[in-house]
Amino acid sequence: MTDEAWIGLTGTPGTGKTTVAHLLNECSVYSVSELSKQHGCLGEIDSHDMSREIDIDSLNNSLEKQGINLQLKGSASSCETVIIEGHLSHLLPVSAIVILRCEPDILHERLNSRNWSSEKIRENTEWELMGGPWIELVNHKNNDLPIIEIDGSDNSPEEIVQIIEKWLKKGLPLTSFAEIDWMKKVVDN
Ligand code: ADP
Ligand code: MG
Repeated sequence: MTDEAWIGLTGTPGTGKTTVAHLLNECSVYSVSELSKQHGCLGEIDSHDMSREIDIDSLNNSLEKQGINLQLKGSASSCETVIIEGHLSHLLPVSAIVILRCEPDILHERLNSRNWSSEKIRENTEWELMGGPWIELVNHKNNDLPIIEIDGSDNSPEEIVQIIEKWLKKGLPLTSFAEIDWMKKVVDN
């Protein structure tokens, strides 16, 4: 591990991770997929959409042993905060986690504009409805890390960036534990 703080920016696909990550000016940004290529951790081809799966366990081990080669991307190595964005980033050796959430209806609309099968869109919308990354974090060691959960449904990417930057400046306090519950909202309505 290096001296930089590694922050995982996670969330169901479509919640806005990539958009937000690239607006975080004071940070070096890496995507899980580019790190998995750098570290030779691409897995099998998914026959559904021919995309390469990421071998997250082997990426985890490799990052723990070797760290991130900050020079590879030519990004400013003086940045103390490294953002690792991707829907599996909460499973990597990060020291804090940002979870982006999005109302399932809005998420469904966003994913509809991708060239994805209706099955893949439904699976991802259901994942968000059930709690998204929290499902995997419940029994994971990263569960103890500082975590901030942000509802991006009605916030612009710039507003989300402001929330994250404020959190970074405050020293990464634990702000919420799975407060957003779309299921409850559906039942209550
Ligand atoms: P992810 O990286 O999580 O899969 P993207 O950053 O690719 O998500 O965003 C998915 C889509 O949603 C893009 O079309 C993007 O412009 C849009 N988007 C992202 N964040 C917001 C937001 N806060 N409000 C409205 N639209 C957004
Ligand atoms: Mg993305």
